[in-house]
Amino acid sequence: MKILVLNSGSSSLKYQLIDLDNNQVAAKGIAERIGVRTAEGASLTFQTNERPARTISADMPDHEEAMRLVFQALTDPEDGAIRSICEISAVGHRVVHGGERFVEPTLVTEETLNEIDAMSELAPLHNPPNLAGIRACRRVMPDVPQVAVFDTAFFAPIPKRAYIYALPYELYEDFGVRRYGFHGASHQYVSSRARQLLREGGRDVSGIRIVSCHLGNGCSASAVVGDRPIDTSLGMTPAEGLVMGTRSGDMDPAIIPFLMRRTGMTPDDIDDLINKKSGLLGISGTSSDMRDIQSRAEAGDERAALAFEIFCYRVRKYIGAYAAAMGGLDVVVFTGGIGENSPDVRAAICHGLEFAGVVIDRSKNDGFRGEGDVSAEGARVRVMVIPTDEEMMIARETAEVVTRLLEPAAHN
Ligand code: AMP
Repeated sequence: MKILVLNSGSSSLKYQLIDLDNNQVAAKGIAERIGVRTAEGASLTFQTNERPARTISADMPDHEEAMRLVFQALTDPEDGAIRSICEISAVGHRVVHGGERFVEPTLVTEETLNEIDAMSELAPLHNPPNLAGIRACRRVMPDVPQVAVFDTAFFAPIPKRAYIYALPYELYEDFGVRRYGFHGASHQYVSSRARQLLREGGRDVSGIRIVSCHLGNGCSASAVVGDRPIDTSLGMTPAEGLVMGTRSGDMDPAIIPFLMRRTGMTPDDIDDLINKKSGLLGISGTSSDMRDIQSRAEAGDERAALAFEIFCYRVRKYIGAYAAAMGGLDVVVFTGGIGENSPDVRAAICHGLEFAGVVIDRSKNDGFRGEGDVSAEGARVRVMVIPTDEEMMIARETAEVVTRLLEPAAHN
């Protein structure tokens, strides 16, 4: 079964055609600068298993045109990945916010689209471009089933004590003010992969207590017991919790009215401040990119060193807090651009957690690439590095929805 996975941003559209029969990516690429008037112009990259990436420059005034070009590239008789659209069993769309309404992957209908639209208030930067991608895709491939897979849905089972803020309860009832959590596909993928690897190694994984740390440009930690998440660090919006590239994560909420009174900042200014000017960028004053932070810190830049230290300290605190929430800890998983690629970050986070049974093997950790275990022999907690694969997770979830629809009798 081949599933096309789409992730639409405001000016970009990432796609992967995934063949679930062999768990391989048959083709992938990205359309960039959609609807943006720049000298550079819009472009589409396309690559398959057999052929290296090529870039096509083309006019893309909107997502629909971008989608048409993706479709053309996929079915190109010369070097496409499929002969016709009939080979695509379904399209899986990443949608950031499903609110309380969407707690599982959902077949897209006009009604679903309206409901996702209504959710835009909770994710004004993300849901509208996600919707534009779905609508464009429905126009270009009207006969292919489309499924919306929500970033928030994996966290639907977290208990009330983890998702209700200590604000007047009516704010939850009236406006949906609560923790939803994000990066769901990533936490679901890496935590289930960790369980699979441990099971293959002969371990009983029922009730296993995992903290998964998704550390990329956006960062979040999740506590997962068995296959059930019980808490996560991102909140009503993707601004809470860990220090991120440009987002602050946790801070005293009273700083906001203080700044508004003191500097005359508006709500939009504050949004900009906590989402785009804070985090590693805010502390270092120079970069939101962990590679820059590390190299500047090594060269003696004190603010970069401080950004690195605060970043790792915050993750360490969350691991400790989640260990307490779960009544113990069996596995820590690192993923995301930083988690997968920075041994120094992994080592700095784990340093100080030895009391909880977390001990990294320095020689395994340094230069580690790919998927596996970097903990010391005999350590009580397994520390694992698992490259995330959100697209694969979305493809599997999408396939499940369409299989259920196609074979209702088998599931009755
Ligand atoms: P992501 O959003 O998952 O693509 O992750 C982006 C982040 O990963 C950026 O902060 C990058 O600097 C960071 N990153 C990628 N490769 C490395 C590396 N080798 N060492 C440290 N950070 C890295």
